This record gives sequence, structure tokens and C-alpha cells, in this order.
Amino acid sequence: MLESAQTLIIKTAEKMKLDPEMVKRLIEPEFSHEFALTITMDSGKKKVFKGWRIQHNSALGPYKGGIRFHPETTKEEVQALATLMSIKCAVAGLPYGGAKGGIIVDPKKLSKGELERLSRAFVVRIAHVIGVDIDVPAPDVNTTPQIMAWMIDEYQKVIGYKSPGTFTGKPVAIGGSLGRTEATGRGGLFVLQALLEKARYRKFFDGKQKTAKNLIPSPFNNLTIAVQGFGNVGYYFAKLSEIEAMPAGRHGFKIVAVSDSKGGVYVKDGLSVDTTMKCKKEKGMVAGCYCRGSVCDLKLGKNITNEELLELPVDILVPAALENVINDQNMKKIKAKIILELANGPITSEAYEYLNKQGVIVIPDVLANSGGVTVSYLEWVQGKAGYFWSEKEVNDKLKIMMNKAFEAIWKKSVEKKIPLKQAAFEVALERIVSAYT
Ligand code: NAD
Repeated sequence: MLESAQTLIIKTAEKMKLDPEMVKRLIEPEFSHEFALTITMDSGKKKVFKGWRIQHNSALGPYKGGIRFHPETTKEEVQALATLMSIKCAVAGLPYGGAKGGIIVDPKKLSKGELERLSRAFVVRIAHVIGVDIDVPAPDVNTTPQIMAWMIDEYQKVIGYKSPGTFTGKPVAIGGSLGRTEATGRGGLFVLQALLEKARYRKFFDGKQKTAKNLIPSPFNNLTIAVQGFGNVGYYFAKLSEIEAMPAGRHGFKIVAVSDSKGGVYVKDGLSVDTTMKCKKEKGMVAGCYCRGSVCDLKLGKNITNEELLELPVDILVPAALENVINDQNMKKIKAKIILELANGPITSEAYEYLNKQGVIVIPDVLANSGGVTVSYLEWVQGKAGYFWSEKEVNDKLKIMMNKAFEAIWKKSVEKKIPLKQAAFEVALERIVSAYT
């Protein structure tokens, strides 16, 4: 992942004819903090964990990025994610640089008390390098609003005063923002709608330029969508898209498939997102939600594997779970015309090149899933001001910011006749480079 992020930066910088020393500045992290943490386990024994906070680039503002707790995280992964945060914040037009933190741990194997001690110990290690105008951490894989609450509490004990803007993704009761939970899915939908709005004026799907004849006269109807991942991002994206499919909605969407780690369901005529979530909560999985007794291949809907979901004949494919799920093994079987990358890095470089040549429109992760960090920014602003907006105000601001981010990328893509991903990297690097005086 690190190599792929760095290659994208190097290739974009070459096309922009940037000075080689500037390219080094865009590649090398500014700070890389590596440390060991020791906590007392419930058994009374001490245990040591390894962790990092990598601060990649601060040209545009304080560092911003999540903290992940994962048994397989590595320094390279944390650095790659920090690098991509610098690009994402620049793409989203936020006054932030990029950072990421991580601890090698399987949090599912810790008790609540052990998890709290580990979260607090992490903050003690990084307290001297973070701050509301220095580096603002947030949740990431396996870290939650509760963990942010422990972290901000510990941080404020260390510094001796309140500083709610230093962490985002906090519970609303202690300065979190309304609308943060749904923000990544909602932001993804705003970007998709913005793209479709442009597509109305171009014969998009066969790659030909617009002519008066092939203008698409009315909003699309019943565009089919398959969503891989039914967690925070996938669920809210699917739920909000379904609301948009109501008769009064501007674009008609039909969610035909969703999946989680145990498999998925395909309902040709469109599924009910909330009914499927209710069933998932009862059964522990979405697979089987459309079975009658032991019969699971009904007209009503059927079970599918995650691989099958990615290969469905849908208009829009939304990978919202894991990285590298679209790769050299399945790229030739992908039938969707648009891929909205809500997960980080769901398409490998090789598959991306192939799909691009086939005319598939990829809305890149650094734009598609930037709704989360955008509402984190709105939480930071509210925390600094001590003044909090209603959920509607937050959602309205998110829409304005996502549309603005999309417009800049779209403009670059049309002007230079380059794909959206390349355009996003160019816009980001231009903004970062212009901040160096
Ligand atoms: P989550 O843990 O809430 O949900 C993940 C979903 O993926 C779950 O439904 C899980 O069952 C499913 N999943 C896990 N393994 C799978 C597999 N092998 N095949 C299919 N599905 C599988 O996580 P999330 O917060 O929704 O994040 C999803 C993705 O979006 C991640 O790549 C994350 O980095 C990215 N992302 C999240 C946010 C955010 O605000 N939460 C912001 C930006 C990017």
C-alpha cells in the first residue's frame, strides 16, 4: 500500500514537472514516532505493545488522521495511510496535513479495562506531539467514540486544561459532532450524485463526447447498486441511497445487493436496507436474510458470496469493506459502469489500470470517502469555537464541501482529459506545493 501511494505521488509529480527535492518532501514523513507501551493486564501481568504515530505532511495545517488497533498493522501500513491522509485532506479542501496512528493489537482479545488502559497509555506516549493546532487524531479501524473519550480525557489530564478539539470522533455528549456517524456514507452519496449530474450532459457510459442528441434528458431511474460491506460506511451509504430512491428523489437508486464478512444477498428487484439490517442484527449476518426456511434461492432474493457480489451486472459497485478486493483475479469480470471507492484502496493498481482502459469510472477513495474527515473537521471547528450546530446544519455544510471538492477534481479531469483519480492527486499536490512558501 505504501509503494502504491508513493508511486502515485511520484508519477503525478513527474507529470506536473515538480522539483525532485519537492517530490522527496511529498514522500518522506515529517515525523515518525515509534514506541512501546506497557499496560497491566487483568491477570496482573505486564504486557508490551508496539505503536506508531506517523506525521506525514503539515504544509496545509495541523496533521489529521485516525488511530487503528489491529493485530496485523505495520509501520509501512501506518505510513501509507498517513500519506493518503495528506492527499485526502488536500482533495477535500481542509486546512490539514496527514497523519495516522496504530497499535499492533487485537482489541477483541482485550477486556474493556485492558482496552481503556491501552488507549490511555497510547495518549501518554503521543501527548507531547499532538494538540488542537498540531495533530488531531480520530477513530479508525477498531477504535470507537468510547476510545476517543478515554483518549481525550487522558490527554486533558496530561496538559492540565480542556482541549476538546484535539480529538475528533468523540461522543456527542463531550463535544462530538452530530452527523459524524453517517458522514462517510452520506459524503459518498453526495459525490455520486454530483457525478451523475455531470453525466446527464455527456454520453458517459460509452465514452463518447456529448452531442445534442445523446444528452440524457432526465435524472437516471432505478440505477442498480451493489454494496460490499454492511458496517458503518456501507450501511449508511445504502440507507441514504434508498431514501434518494423515493419518488421525490432526484436520482433513483435501487440497492440490489449487500454483504458482510460472512457473505451477501442479491435481490434483483431491490432490497430493503433497514429490514436487511434488522435481520443481520438477529442472525449475525446478512446471508440468509431472504431465505424461506432452508430454501435460499428464491425469486425474492438469494445468497451470494462476496466474490459474486463484485461481479454482479449492476450500474454502480460500492466496495465499502476492505482493501485490494478488486484485483487481477476478478478485474475482467467486473460489470459495473461506476465504482465508488468507499473503502480505502479497494482496487489494486493493476486492476485500476485495466478498468480505466475499459471506460469504467472510478470515483477515487481520497474523494469518495472524504465525508468522514470533512465532518471531523466540522467537529474540530465546533470544538475550537465552543459552539455546536444542528445535524441539519452539519449535513448542509458537508454537502457544500463535498460538492466543492468534487467540482475541482471534475474540472481538472475534463480540462486535462485524465481520470478522476489522477485529477484528484494533481489537485492535492498543487494545493500542498502551493502552501510551501
Ligand atoms: P466497519 O467495521 O463498520 O464495517 C466493515 C464491514 O465490512 C462490515 O460489514 C464487515 O462485516 C465487512 N467485512 C469485513 N471483512 C469482509 C470481507 N472479507 N468481505 C466482505 N465484507 C467484509 O468499518 P467501516 O467504518 O464501515 O469502514 C469500511 C471501510 O471504509 C474501511 O476500508 C475504512 O478504512 C473505510 N473508511 C471508513 C471511514 C469511516 O468514517 N468509518 C472513513 C473513511 C474510510
